[in-house]
Amino acid sequence: MVELNPFEIAQSQLDACAKILKLDPNVHAMLRVPMRELHVSLPVRMDDGTTHIFQGFRVQYNDARGPTKGGIRFHPDETIDTVRALAAWMTWKCALLDLPLGGAKGGVICNPKGMSQGELERLSRAYINEMWQFIGPGKDIPAPDVYTNPQTMAWMMDEYSKIVGKNQFGVITGKPLSVGGSLGRGDATARGGLYTVREAAKECGMDLKKATIAIQGYGNAGYNAACLAKSLFGSKIVAVSDSKGGIFSREGLDPEAVREHKAKTDSVINFPNTKPISNKELLELKVDILIPAALENVITKKNAPNVKAKILAELANGPTTPKADDILCKKGVHVIPDFLCNAGGVTVSYFEMVQNFSMDYWDEKEVHERLDKKMTSAYHSVLDTSRKYNVNMGQAAYVVAVRRVVGAMKLRGWI
Ligand code: NAD
Repeated sequence: MVELNPFEIAQSQLDACAKILKLDPNVHAMLRVPMRELHVSLPVRMDDGTTHIFQGFRVQYNDARGPTKGGIRFHPDETIDTVRALAAWMTWKCALLDLPLGGAKGGVICNPKGMSQGELERLSRAYINEMWQFIGPGKDIPAPDVYTNPQTMAWMMDEYSKIVGKNQFGVITGKPLSVGGSLGRGDATARGGLYTVREAAKECGMDLKKATIAIQGYGNAGYNAACLAKSLFGSKIVAVSDSKGGIFSREGLDPEAVREHKAKTDSVINFPNTKPISNKELLELKVDILIPAALENVITKKNAPNVKAKILAELANGPTTPKADDILCKKGVHVIPDFLCNAGGVTVSYFEMVQNFSMDYWDEKEVHERLDKKMTSAYHSVLDTSRKYNVNMGQAAYVVAVRRVVGAMKLRGWI
């Protein structure tokens, strides 16, 4: 196996689960590959008058439990294998959270940082023009992901609504509030992750008020995790980083002041009264809780032996390779696996769909309470399963999710 191909990693994680569950080889074979993929060419008129053809994808991995759901990434390094892996993880994530949804993911190879708002709008509309028959509120519901945002979602919802001739807020989630978005979506991923950290701390006998935390990545997931860890638990954030490097303060950082510094200077580095550290050093710090919240494959067999945290909360997708996971398990690190830890985003996206369909919008407190209930219940089903099968938390999350998907496939007569 190529250690770092995300789809091969997703398949190898499933293979390990198939062994634990003694899955029928035919069922296992069905689950190893996506059910459907659409590859499209998107001609977009650029501001200089030329037409650029962008390549786009949508992968619907498995819809046994309901319409598929998953974000759309705009990224220069997007590959079909990344989209396939993320679509597989969405399938397991929705099943683990017991949402009535399957998993999907989309992507466009483009460099959004080099494009104007007009070009991004035309690209977003072109994506829907090619995809509209493939998606829909009862089929497949996209959402934002890396380098797409609520504005992108508003353009896409508008384009879909125009094509089908009626307002279809439920076709897409992560929309701005005034066009059918949900309260509580902005920090949902971090908040959901921290609800699982709270449960993990009880399990490990850790006092969160005295806990130290290091966070890699200071975007939506990382920044909100820093703010909420401080406000909900009173924990101390001793290190954060972004793509340019990291900062460390034994006394603890003020997350909001770091955000303001990053907004002004484009990075967390050089924040006053902190020591510079590299991203590599951050992952190996002696802290109670480590939160990778940036990229895939940052904890590998090389650096896993040096991880000193007691709890690893995987807010990023796929931050730990399978070999690293084994090492961490042997070291006794309590890992909250990615598709459990970062499921708060899709859970509140699902709440957004429910609100769109019922035309009844909830206040923030209700969103938080419902999210807490879902995350806490998913954490405990993973913990109980890890004890019952004597497997690590990552494998246990797969066992819970795959059993649910296979159960739905059986009931539908697919297998
Ligand atoms: P974002 O784009 O808002 O932030 C990403 C952060 O990572 C930025 O601070 C960036 O500087 C940093 N980064 C980039 N390259 C880095 C590197 N080489 N080393 C260290 N830091 C680096 O993205 P986000 O929405 O916060 O997503 C982060 C992770 O969380 C991704 O893996 C994403 O798939 C996952 N996730 C996010 C959500 C969500 O709702 N935002 C939901 C589920 C999973």
